[in-house]
Amino acid sequence: MPAYKIHEHSFDMVVVGAGGAGLRATFGLAQKGLKTACITKVFPTRSHTVAAQGGVAAALANMGEDDWRYHFFDTVKGSDWLGDQDAIEYMCKEAIPAIIELEHYGVPFSRTEDGKIYQRPFGGMTTKFGEGPPAQRTCAAADRTGHAILHTLYQQSLAHDAQFFIEYFALDLIMDADGACRGVLALDLSTGELHLFRAQGTVLATGGYGRAYFSATSAHTCTGDGGGMVLRAGLAMQDMEFVQFHPTGIYGAGCLITEGVRGEGGILRNSNGERFMERYAPSVKDLAPRDMVSRSMTIEIREGRGVGEHKDHILLDLTHLGPEVIHEKLPGIAESARIFAGVDVEKQPIPVIPTVHYNMGGIPTNYHGEVVQLRNGNPDEVVPGLYAIGEAACVSVHGANRLGSNSLLDLVVFGRAVANRAAETVKPDGKQATLAGDACDQALARLDKLRNANGDTPTAVIRDKMQRTMQADAAVFRTGETLSDGVKKIREIHASFADVKVSDRSLVWNSDLIETYELSNLLGQALATIVSAENRTESRGAHAREDFPERDDANWLKHTLCSVGDDGTTSIDYRPVHMYTLTDDVDVVPPKKRVY
Ligand SMILES: Cc1cc2nc3c(=O)[nH]c(=O)nc-3n(C[C@H](O)[C@H](O)[C@H](O)COP(=O)(O)OP(=O)(O)OC[C@H]3O[C@@H](n4cnc5c(N)ncnc54)[C@H](O)[C@@H]3O)c2cc1C
Repeated sequence: MPAYKIHEHSFDMVVVGAGGAGLRATFGLAQKGLKTACITKVFPTRSHTVAAQGGVAAALANMGEDDWRYHFFDTVKGSDWLGDQDAIEYMCKEAIPAIIELEHYGVPFSRTEDGKIYQRPFGGMTTKFGEGPPAQRTCAAADRTGHAILHTLYQQSLAHDAQFFIEYFALDLIMDADGACRGVLALDLSTGELHLFRAQGTVLATGGYGRAYFSATSAHTCTGDGGGMVLRAGLAMQDMEFVQFHPTGIYGAGCLITEGVRGEGGILRNSNGERFMERYAPSVKDLAPRDMVSRSMTIEIREGRGVGEHKDHILLDLTHLGPEVIHEKLPGIAESARIFAGVDVEKQPIPVIPTVHYNMGGIPTNYHGEVVQLRNGNPDEVVPGLYAIGEAACVSVHGANRLGSNSLLDLVVFGRAVANRAAETVKPDGKQATLAGDACDQALARLDKLRNANGDTPTAVIRDKMQRTMQADAAVFRTGETLSDGVKKIREIHASFADVKVSDRSLVWNSDLIETYELSNLLGQALATIVSAENRTESRGAHAREDFPERDDANWLKHTLCSVGDDGTTSIDYRPVHMYTLTDDVDVVPPKKRVY
């Protein structure tokens, strides 16, 4: 084993990630008196959460009738019944105190005339169990809600006694022989020194893996490092076939134009100027859920009604909203449209196209944020010492399709849930379990191998191939043919990682090495995504199979579990969907056809 000096730390809890989920967990844990570390590869306020625009859902009823049970119903229906109803109940009920808490922490929400939190309509959010008009449920700080929330959470974190390790890159989980997680090994990017964080509990809050695709609204840092570490630890990922395409990424640039634009009255139009969503979702039109709008746009383009020279995109028209609404409610997207599409939104429509936006799949957890696996016939067996929250996790509250503004909610609700759970189960200043002398060997061997990787293919070349293949073969619409072709290609690309070339041999600010780690994390998840997609022979939520156009509850009302070995072998298993609620406060929503 090569000799690397390792600095050792001992904490009650270590949180990997300082986005909305990681920060909410970090200061929650510190508040509970647990000695907590937060490790993050980017400065906390640069996490992708900062880019969230439209808002965060909670049935506050500030701007019309609402009830958290309506929110619960909408989320179950939005998930195409793949969401776990106990976790959805927990999230929608807790949403109300969680948002009031954010307000008290200092999030500068937009306001109504009488000083309440401003709420806008969002896709799939309705009233009266889908029978009433659209709900105004999405709490917004103009079109910069994520920015407002992330900065406030960071300020709160500084007020509590948590220790931050900023620009530290987590390499691998440290698991013991019994399958419990004992901490994480990380690299201090600025010095190149290694740090072992021993902890009673490790929380993965590392965000999504949008960068497995070529065109994504997510930041370049969204490389699913937590999921990569989990796969390497031999654990399974859940529901990876469900990738959300946001209907309105800017054509070409991929930057997001929030759904809040349609919430404020923006309209999608085809080359005939037609408001085509009236045909696909007559009741909610442009405010249908994202999977449906993305499919409708794709069909319009395929049938020759796309716009532009190549008839390959759609227009988002907000010229009728007037300067006042645009300046007050949508200033950020007016700026994005000007910079990235060269468009003055008061006068011209924005060219848009469905763009990869969110991963419904992730590390399977229960509603306490504890990682679960199928073991010895028990589908809900907790992995001791390991937690996951935020986009990295699959609780599963979003099922097959997430409703817009339910992710920011998921971050704060489950970030808080982990802190509450740890307060019950973790002993403050408790002793660390003994660690075998060779506990870090595998992680170190991997570091040494990648650092000295002397193949012929640069990281960027492999990454580009993976991203283009995922974009082409695991798209909005899928067929058995494109998927099996895609699986074959991604397997080859995964295997080609053995030939990767890292040119920089140092350990100080070695972005070449870090990008290579990120690529390997992405590759495992790209493979899990496309293998799970090929395996699921039905259409549900964001997973639209042209060869299996119907949802098939008899065979497929279950979560996919996919594990990926280092050599690229994959195996698939299943967990049942929780078709029960936590309390009698709300009734289970039985599956029915999902129409809007
Ligand atoms: C453009 C855009 C707009 C959006 N708008 C909305 C919206 O309006 N409403 C809504 O509900 N949702 C929205 N979403 C979705 C939502 O913002 C994200 O799902 C959510 O912010 C993810 O938060 P997170 O805390 O899980 O992870 P992130 O915010 O992505 O943070 C990940 C953290 O993990 C750290 N990290 C990752 N890997 C490592 C590693 N190896 N070592 C150390 N640290 C690591 C990073 O440094 C970072 O701090 C939007 C998403 C995008 C991309």
